Amino acid sequence: MPKVRVLPEVLAHQIAAGEIVERPASVVKELVENSLDAGATWVRIQVQGGGSRLIRVADDGCGMCETDACLAFEHHATSKIAALEDLEAILTLGFRGEALPSIASVSRVCLKTVEARPESEPPVSGTELRYEGGRRVSLQPIAWSRGTEITVEDLFFNTPARRKFLKSAATEISHISRLVTSYALAFPGVSFQLEHEQRMLLDAPAVSETAERTFQVLGDPVMANLAPVDYEHAGVRVHGFTSLPHEQRNSANWLFLFVNRRMVRDRLLTHAIRQAYRDLIPVQAHPVVVLFVETDPRLIDVNVHPTKTEIRFRRSQDVHVTVCRAIEQALLRHRSNLSSLARDLELSPPESREQRIRQGIDAFLRRTATTPLFQSDRRTASDPAGPADAPHGPAAASVSGPSEDPHGPSIPATSHLPTVPAVLGQFVESFIVVVDRDGVMLVDQHVAHERILYDRALQALGTEGGVPVQRLLIPQTIRLASQQKAVAEAVLAHLNRNGFEVEWFGSDTLIVRGVPALAYDVDPAAVLEQLFQELDSLDDFDSPHLSPDRSLRRVREKIAISLSCRAAIKINTPLAREKMQWLIDELFRCENPYTCPHGRPILLRLPLEEILRGFHRIR
Ligand code: ADP
Ligand code: MG
Repeated sequence: MPKVRVLPEVLAHQIAAGEIVERPASVVKELVENSLDAGATWVRIQVQGGGSRLIRVADDGCGMCETDACLAFEHHATSKIAALEDLEAILTLGFRGEALPSIASVSRVCLKTVEARPESEPPVSGTELRYEGGRRVSLQPIAWSRGTEITVEDLFFNTPARRKFLKSAATEISHISRLVTSYALAFPGVSFQLEHEQRMLLDAPAVSETAERTFQVLGDPVMANLAPVDYEHAGVRVHGFTSLPHEQRNSANWLFLFVNRRMVRDRLLTHAIRQAYRDLIPVQAHPVVVLFVETDPRLIDVNVHPTKTEIRFRRSQDVHVTVCRAIEQALLRHRSNLSSLARDLELSPPESREQRIRQGIDAFLRRTATTPLFQSDRRTASDPAGPADAPHGPAAASVSGPSEDPHGPSIPATSHLPTVPAVLGQFVESFIVVVDRDGVMLVDQHVAHERILYDRALQALGTEGGVPVQRLLIPQTIRLASQQKAVAEAVLAHLNRNGFEVEWFGSDTLIVRGVPALAYDVDPAAVLEQLFQELDSLDDFDSPHLSPDRSLRRVREKIAISLSCRAAIKINTPLAREKMQWLIDELFRCENPYTCPHGRPILLRLPLEEILRGFHRIR
């Protein structure tokens, strides 16, 4: 019995649509690309219910006559290529002729359009076309003045399996928002508006320069820490902006990469960027990058995947080298803002890693050279009478008498050493030197304090009745980048239940009237900025797979991280002995005194055994 059968057309199209329309953001992407290909000078995007209820994209582009409008919903119908050779050098964003039929097969679509004509010619009527689940349900002439408007409702209404995979409205809108932000960056000459429910998430009027657009969509706090990139090599031009090493993010959401103005996700480019930042930012951190790669279209293949965001470079090595150098150069030009390590790098680039590390250490020591490297107390340096308590420190409390044979193998007595860790002093005003019976420890004072504050904050946030609010004398405002607004929208209620008093103040600004009382002495705007960085991805707390309880816990964790990071003692800060001992006592009361909430180590241990082995006192 033959088992192979040809699938009904509608089903086949629904399956094919799955490749292109993965989520609401994919619909927005295809429709915005069509508007840009149609030469629009403005694109307006309205979204409801995270895009699963409604997506409407309107433009003032070239529009379509009735015949074209009908054809546009046929599979493989496109005005952008005609022959195989055209595939070799694609200049438009679309070319597959698959988007409109795919979208129409999994939603209810209404298209309104009119063909643009010279002013001298009499106006023609427009066309309205409606599709439901891939079937045309109406076609009629309408009065329509300009461009095209496509409304997509009830996405995946006929493919429940797909619908189930949709995340919360907030998550979906954050994907849409990132996407529109990307296209806005690539097309500064086009006005973009993105509205979700009644809120304007992005409003970027047309400007002449990428720099202005970057400023519009990312905001000035980010812009202030970006270095311009402009470099050309081997026929590849790379331009845009890249962040100085201290502007770091937790996710790759802030990498905006374009090849010939097409937004791409590309391992080669990401790798080249990583390479350029290799000694400048921690491995788990990400920079903010807006990067345009321009090359001969014949040297790239964009027909790799139906979503057209993957790309193949015919000369990948050239692209890698150019991108990496472009960023390195941009950063070096801004070296006055870089860390000492980076400065040393530029003076003598070819040296070995060891040398670089050595130089980094030297530079670090030079910065703190005005104070003794090892001090048990702030007074040691300034008080001419000398440290009052130095002889009483645990290290000085030599109990065992001198050994008979100074080179003898006898193991030092440790019984007099404190069982609880005791402070010996501070090293380079950043690390606390501590001993206990097991050996010597170096504790990073900032990270240690962060852990203590984090545990306290988390506990306070979890208590009945919530955290007391400390009202600010002068409310502060913070401006959000467009893609942060979706996060803000979703998290605002949580914040207000956890010690903050924050509300919208205009469409891209939040006003902070109160902060958790735990946040004494810290800049509320800095705490919130850090918080939005921590909450970079809505998947962190707004996924439907998380119970409301778990999602609240996650938000609290992020609040605690932001508060503690901002309030913790900085490195390069001299500390009195009592303060250091307090820190150490508190640290060892924490459940996990070894790593900070981000996973960074708090202390380095040199066990007694290692010390003895190092001095050849044991084998
Ligand atoms: P592609 O973009 O790959 O050509 P689509 O299915 O996205 O395929 O669109 C089919 C055709 O419909 C396009 O080639 C274009 O001619 C026309 N079209 C789609 N959207 C618009 C628009 N907003 N303005 C003008 N023409 C459009
Ligand atoms: Mg298209």
